[in-house]
Amino acid sequence: MKPIYRCDYCDYMGTENEVMAHEKTCVKNFNNKGCLTCVFCKTDGMHGCECSKGQSIPEGKQLLYCDAYENGEPEVVGFLGMILNMNKTK
Ligand SMILES: [Zn+2]
Repeated sequence: MKPIYRCDYCDYMGTENEVMAHEKTCVKNFNNKGCLTCVFCKTDGMHGCECSKGQSIPEGKQLLYCDAYENGEPEVVGFLGMILNMNKTK
């Protein structure tokens, strides 16, 4: 039996070494200043994201260590955003 470790920021699981390596580049780790924990991120939850500060993001990817980074909740747009907003007003 071997122990399973889990990323502190997302659902990634693996061995201790795998998870330690993963956390350094995890897009949900706010220390990495990535899109998924940034207020300037606009995402539909499926097709990567757009930056409302105008940083260019390679398609389907998220930036890490971004200069314009500000920690917060990304703005969810499109169909997923509609569902989330519906749940908020109830
Ligand atoms: Zn992770």
